[in-house]
Amino acid sequence: MTGHASALWHPFTQHARTDAPLFVERAEGATLLTKDGRRIIDGISSWWVNIYGHNHPAIVEAVKAQAEKLDQVIFAGFTHAPAEELAASLTALMPPALHHVFLSDSGSTAVEVALKMALGAHIHRGKPRRMIAAFQHGYHGDTFGAMAAGAPSVFNEIYAPWLFRVERLPFPEAGREEQTVEAFRTLLKEHENDVAALIVEPLVLGAGGMRMYSPTVLRDLKRLCEAHGVYLIADEVMTGFGRTGTLLASQQADIVPDILCLSKGLTGGMLPLGATLCGDDIYQAFYSSDRNKTFWHSSSYTGNPLSCAAACASLKLWQTDETQKNIARLCKAQEEHLGAIAAHPRAVNARHRGTIAAFDLRAEDAGYFSRIGPKLYSFFLARGVLLRPLGNTLYVMPPYCIAPEALNRIYACLKEALDSVAQEEK
Ligand SMILES: *Cc1c(COP(=O)(O)O)cnc(C)c1O
Repeated sequence: MTGHASALWHPFTQHARTDAPLFVERAEGATLLTKDGRRIIDGISSWWVNIYGHNHPAIVEAVKAQAEKLDQVIFAGFTHAPAEELAASLTALMPPALHHVFLSDSGSTAVEVALKMALGAHIHRGKPRRMIAAFQHGYHGDTFGAMAAGAPSVFNEIYAPWLFRVERLPFPEAGREEQTVEAFRTLLKEHENDVAALIVEPLVLGAGGMRMYSPTVLRDLKRLCEAHGVYLIADEVMTGFGRTGTLLASQQADIVPDILCLSKGLTGGMLPLGATLCGDDIYQAFYSSDRNKTFWHSSSYTGNPLSCAAACASLKLWQTDETQKNIARLCKAQEEHLGAIAAHPRAVNARHRGTIAAFDLRAEDAGYFSRIGPKLYSFFLARGVLLRPLGNTLYVMPPYCIAPEALNRIYACLKEALDSVAQEEK
C-alpha cells in the first residue's frame, strides 16, 4: 500500500504526489462543505457540470419523484415518460433541424456516438469516407475514439500508437484565423470526398487551455463542410447551456451543426447523461429494412430514467427568468473582474466568453506540467476556493447562481496569487 489509505484510484490524480483528497459531505449552490467543516467556493462548477449550483431543489425533487416510479429499464424496445419528455423539450429548445436525439452516459460517449453516426452515415449511403478533422489543442474526452479526436497531449501520449489518425487543423489564433480555414480548404482539395467529419469545440477549447476563437472562423468552416459534404460535429459538452452566454456557442456563429454533442450541464450536474443530436439526413442513412444498417450502439444505462428526469428539470430551469438573469449578471461580472486582473503585470492573454473568464500567468515554466499549477491549486484551496489551473492558465467558471461576494472572493485570491508570484520571482 502506498500513500493513500482508500482503495479508490482517483481521476487525473498522481497518488504518489498528492495529498489525500478532500472529503466532501454536502454541497449547496456554489459551496462545497467538507467533513472537517470547511466551506469551499466551487469556482469551476465541479469540472464544469453544476451550472445551476449544487443540489438545486427543483432537480433534487424531480429525481426523488422519478426514483419512486421507475428506476431503470432496458431502452431497446422500451421507452418511458422522462426520456420522451426530455427528447421533446430538447428538440424544442435546440435548432429545429436537429430533431433526433440519441442518449448515452457522458460527454465522451456523446462524442463516440457522433463519430460513429458520421462515419456510418457515409458508409450506409455507399460512399464511405475515412478522414476525421479536428483542431489542434482540442479535447473531446478520454475514451479511445474521443482521445483520437482530441489533440495529442500529455494526457494521451502513451496511447498514441492505438489512436486512429485524425487530421489536425491549426488552432485559429486571433489574427491568424485564415490559416485554419486555408488548412481545411487544402485538406478538402487533397482528399476530395474522403473527409467524413470535422469535430470542433465551438468558440472555446476547454481542457486545451480555455483557448477562445472568433465565431467567423466557425462560420467559414461550416460553409466549407456544406460545400464538400462533410459533417460538422459541434462538441458543446462544455459550452452548451449558457456557458458562453447563449444556449449554444455555435449560435453566436449563426450556424447549425450536423451533429451536436451535449453532456456536462445537461442534468445541471446532478446525474451523468450524454445526448447526441442529429438531423434527418443522418437518421435516414441508417433507416432501412436492412438490419445491417441499424445504429449498433448502446450502453446498459442508455436513457436512464433518473438522469432523464434530472435533465428535464434542468431544461425547465434553463427557461426561467432567474437563470437568464444570473447568466447575464455573471457574464458582466466576469468581464469587469477580468478587466482588473488584465492590468496586473503577471497576467497575460486575459480573455472571456460569456460566463467563462481566463488568463495566463506569466511564469518561468509554462505548459500543463508547469510547477506553478499544483502550487496555485493548493494556494486557492487553503483560502477556501476551488480553482484548477490548466498548467499556467487560470480560469473561473462558477455556477450561474454564484453570489457577487463569492465571486469577489475568488478574484481577491487570484490577485493575491499574482502578487505572491510577482514577489517570489523578484
Ligand atoms: C468534458 C468534455 C468531454 C468529455 O466529457 P466526459 O463527460 O468527461 O466524458 C468532451 N468534450 C468536451 C468539450 C469536454 O469539455
